Amino acid sequence: MTIIDGKLISAQVKQELKLEVEKQKANGGKIPHLAAILVGDNGASETYVASKIKSCEEIGFKSTLIRRDSSTTEEEILEIIEQLNHDDDIDGFIVQLPLPQQINVDKVIEAIDPRKDVDGFHPINIGRMAKGLPAYISATPFGVLELIKRYNIETAGKHCVVVGRSQIVGLPMSILMQRNTYPGNCTVSLVHSKTKNLAEITRQADILIAALGKPEFITAEMVKDGAVVIDVGLTRVVDSSKKSGFALKGDVKFDEVAPKCSFITPVPGGVGLMTVAALMYNTLLSARREIY
Ligand code: NAP
Repeated sequence: MTIIDGKLISAQVKQELKLEVEKQKANGGKIPHLAAILVGDNGASETYVASKIKSCEEIGFKSTLIRRDSSTTEEEILEIIEQLNHDDDIDGFIVQLPLPQQINVDKVIEAIDPRKDVDGFHPINIGRMAKGLPAYISATPFGVLELIKRYNIETAGKHCVVVGRSQIVGLPMSILMQRNTYPGNCTVSLVHSKTKNLAEITRQADILIAALGKPEFITAEMVKDGAVVIDVGLTRVVDSSKKSGFALKGDVKFDEVAPKCSFITPVPGGVGLMTVAALMYNTLLSARREIY
């Protein structure tokens, strides 16, 4: 059994990006510039955005953080997006989710210029990705693909079961794993909360990708011997033994599932760190106008 080291791979990706930026700078090219909009005071969002800004600094990107409080209106956010869409120095930007209730997420995402949508959430990027056209691939599925690639995990002809059908993880993940390329060429099953006999289906998985947000939901009896298990889940649970007062839990019961696997990602230290690295990669692509 191999534990997939997201910390190591994300550091490698970031180092590669750093060298690219240095080359770009030396050639008089533009320094990639990422902006993030953070609305409200959700603790997890604060942490994610802070790690994105820190990664920009490490790699040598410019970054801008735009903070608004939780009473901000949809109009105000749409106005900021409009400004960023027209700001020539900003190559890409993200709106950290979730947003407060009064703001319609779909409206916000659709307002982002697809050419600057480095999170890959805009319907145009999802549509282009589904058609196999150049597109920003949402950061988490992109990070998972990179882990599969860097560990040379075989995917062609395998049965991949994705648990969860969210627009930002499960759905794009299922589309990507069936594409006629590597990683891909899987036979894909997408299961969700209305699926009957879920365990029967997960037990058939050669590659099991859990993205449902239910801590330790996937147990040993739901996993086939030798399976590749990718745990996207990241839930904060109260843990008084930690200084922060909480611990991060994945969707997989790691201790009992790991011995059955050929490869498995831990939480933390797996997919989460790759998400940030993939976002940085998309930002470089955007600064180079490689997608659009
Ligand atoms: P989401 O939008 O809440 O979607 C969860 C999906 O799981 C839904 O499709 C839901 O089904 C399905 N589901 C929920 N309970 C289920 C059950 N008991 N059996 C089968 N399916 C079930 O969540 P998300 O945004 O995709 O995130 C999923 C997890 O990944 C969360 O823990 C999140 O924190 C984590 N995440 C991690 C990263 C990272 O960087 N590592 C990035 C994004 C998300 P229905 O559609 O039927 O409701």
